[in-house]
Amino acid sequence: MKNKKISYTITAKDLAAHMFQVSMTIEAPAPEGQVLMLPAWIPGSYMIREFSRNIVQIRAEANGQAVELAKLDKHSWQAAPCKGKLTVHYDVYAWDLSVRAAHLDQTHGFFNGTSVFLRALGQEDEPHVVDIQRPAHAAATKWRVATALKELKARRYGFGTYIAQDYDELIDSPVEMGTFEMASFKALGVQHDVVFTGRVPNLDIARVCADLKQICETQIAFFEPRTKKAPMERYVFMTMVVGDGYGGLEHRASTALFCSRADLPTTAQKGKEPSEGYMKFLGLCSHEYFHTWNVKRIKPAVFAPYDYQVENYTPLLWLFEGFTSYYDDLLLVRAGLLSEEGYFKMLGKTVGAVLRGSGRTKQSVADSSFDAWGKYYRQDENSPNAIVSYYAKGSLVGLGLDLTIRAKTEGKRSLDDIMRALWQKYGRDFYNGKPRGVTPEEVEALFDSVAGFKLKTFFDKYINGTDDVPLAKLLPQFGVGYKDERKASKPSMDVNLGREGADCKLSAVHDGGAAQKAGLSANDLLVAIDGLRVSGNPANVDGLLARYKVGDTVQVHAFRRDELMAFDVTLQGERVPGITIAVEQQKGALRRPTA
Ligand SMILES: [Zn+2]
Repeated sequence: MKNKKISYTITAKDLAAHMFQVSMTIEAPAPEGQVLMLPAWIPGSYMIREFSRNIVQIRAEANGQAVELAKLDKHSWQAAPCKGKLTVHYDVYAWDLSVRAAHLDQTHGFFNGTSVFLRALGQEDEPHVVDIQRPAHAAATKWRVATALKELKARRYGFGTYIAQDYDELIDSPVEMGTFEMASFKALGVQHDVVFTGRVPNLDIARVCADLKQICETQIAFFEPRTKKAPMERYVFMTMVVGDGYGGLEHRASTALFCSRADLPTTAQKGKEPSEGYMKFLGLCSHEYFHTWNVKRIKPAVFAPYDYQVENYTPLLWLFEGFTSYYDDLLLVRAGLLSEEGYFKMLGKTVGAVLRGSGRTKQSVADSSFDAWGKYYRQDENSPNAIVSYYAKGSLVGLGLDLTIRAKTEGKRSLDDIMRALWQKYGRDFYNGKPRGVTPEEVEALFDSVAGFKLKTFFDKYINGTDDVPLAKLLPQFGVGYKDERKASKPSMDVNLGREGADCKLSAVHDGGAAQKAGLSANDLLVAIDGLRVSGNPANVDGLLARYKVGDTVQVHAFRRDELMAFDVTLQGERVPGITIAVEQQKGALRRPTA
């Protein structure tokens, strides 16, 4: 059999200039001229990012002769026909400190394959081999490598050659290199590595591992209650720690995370209750880990396979992101890490956040999913009035559906059964030669069949329609109280405020609210309320308004551009809901032991 593998070498060529150098060799280039492409987006982050703009220079050669590369579009090239193997050399600028791209300096290197590995069109299914080379820089003598890629000629955590079974796996396996802090644990027999990059003095990594083990084992048993078999052979949590940051991106056998230093536990806090920040970090880990099943294996049909060059539209992100958000915190409760009380407190905040924006009355979670590329990922000052989050409302849809099924079947069925049915039918064999995605029609049919009754009304109202999920009705059936404690008597302009330098800016003006009726606009800089100066601190506005009552009219001075304008604002009651959700009677609402 002819060796058709695709191989790369990647070198951190210049740490100060943030430049990776990549060479790619195609053993059997297409006779009519090999086409090469870099993805325009990274799965999990639904926005066109045009990673090819970071390719600084590119050239090709075969048999020691230069081969012409014709540019076809913003992210594709075609090499002239050539005999023998084709090698392409290019430099990639890596200075995007996020989980979505690539970053390189004296402290570490990180890359996603979507930023650095060109695709050989038509040869995606061949094995892809990558030689990750140690940078020739004094700072890098003690660097190690963390990735979920399999070692071919490398020690674990060492520089050397790694292999992926195809292009998809290659670019679904980010790589971190540096002098990171690392520890490992086993979850139901599977090795999990935990890597922290960035300075974290006295990090209690043992505590992080112990807690992650609980989360991972809970999730593996959730999807495979009988076999308790994990879907991957090894898993890597790679976290970049910064002063202030939060986020993550899921992959099939790893996740890249961002977190704030203060959210991580220190050895000095040993034995103490977990902080709110640490619970947020564990929630993030739980979220990305749940994606190992839900979106990396159970996938919308349009993601099987991904089209890396254009938007991949699906109306199902409420299921893949929303339900993942529903289960991330819920499984912390089941893992014994979060109290029910703490869980319901977080739930109250989510409900409040969803009810806050009037966009939820205009856009369904199905439409929000479909338009993620242009709307959710491109938010502006009008977003609260125009869109709903398929994460936040999607998680409430998950809860609403779970409660509806539990109530109707008297606890015999739940959303857990639906997730497991999706897993068995679409996820379990996704990388075992049966890549099959699920269509919106199949989702609804499967939900009906597992629940044992028709959910069409639920879908029409809360998923394809814009109705609020009726939690005030659903939760009390399970002994959980739901109270809306908004302060109707608190005077408000119905805006979101932000700081801009020493000034206070209207970051959003809600539709039909007091400020909008008076003519104020997003991005106006507040100057004074009834002649008293507004400072940069948004809390100062509350203080000034507290002197009035609902229905009073105040004069507001504001700058729009550099023009001073005056507005008469008639104050309204606080529209922001204060939702309190708490257990009232012990009915073990959400803790049904898995059957
Ligand atoms: Zn997610």
